[in-house]
Amino acid sequence: MDSLYRFSFVDLPIRGQWVRLDQSLQDAFKNKSYPQPVSGFLGEMFAAVAMISDNLKFAGAVALQSQGNGALLRTLAECSNRRNLRGIAHVREDFVLPPDPNNLAAWLGDGRLALSLIPEDRENMQTYQGQVELRDASLAINLQTYFTRSEQLDTKLYFGADATTVTGLLLQRLPEAPDAPDEMLERAEDAWDTLVTLTDTIRGEELAELNPEEMLRRLYHEYTVTVHSAQSMQYKCTCNQSKSDRTLATLPVAEMYELLEELGEITVDCEFCGQRYAYGQAEVDRIATTGGYWDTSKKVH
Ligand SMILES: [Zn+2]
Repeated sequence: MDSLYRFSFVDLPIRGQWVRLDQSLQDAFKNKSYPQPVSGFLGEMFAAVAMISDNLKFAGAVALQSQGNGALLRTLAECSNRRNLRGIAHVREDFVLPPDPNNLAAWLGDGRLALSLIPEDRENMQTYQGQVELRDASLAINLQTYFTRSEQLDTKLYFGADATTVTGLLLQRLPEAPDAPDEMLERAEDAWDTLVTLTDTIRGEELAELNPEEMLRRLYHEYTVTVHSAQSMQYKCTCNQSKSDRTLATLPVAEMYELLEELGEITVDCEFCGQRYAYGQAEVDRIATTGGYWDTSKKVH
């Protein structure tokens, strides 16, 4: 099981997250054949949404999405506040490796990156989406610029990876109370600057190798750090039979029967986990009469 730790600095408005994904990556990349840099980008995106979702103040999910006209057409990494991850990348079939294969912006081409906060209760709350400008080759720098400029939250992100894992570290300065005295603000500002300088000394290989206790000791031994209990993370798709039924039910009934006749069986594949939902005559009849709802009192058309 993969783990995420939250930590905070005693008497300072600064906190952080550490996450290492191993099994989640294996599950995410099962049956996929992404070129190495793309699985690296997606791994970092998973680590990023895992850490960001730990700060969510409502039930829902955090999603990081990209869309572009480069070799990397689309990516999505999502993490719910129940710590379930899922995601996918779509790479152009005839892709050409960019000159700098580790440059995310080059892979996206003329692309965009967006961070969304998606509430579970979508009837009463709106999805919030922010555009992350692609000013830098790395996901970490682009995201920290986004948080600092657009969200006015001083933030630093670091990623380290080895052959099978990705490790993420996020450091964030919490907003001060509006009536906080000047000396308190100054103290927080100084502490932030020092902590950033210390954290900047960590190399990707160290981050990928050290366990969280060792890493915190190595970086912040002069500070009192509180480590909160570990949270388990997992790759878990949220697809199921009834969601698939309702997806199929969005097709006009006539079209559904045409497809059935043409193919003998209609299949709906989940793009995240590869799960296949198959519909023969009996199932198509059922969807056509119930609109995909088992409970026909909820029939939609
Ligand atoms: Zn699925």
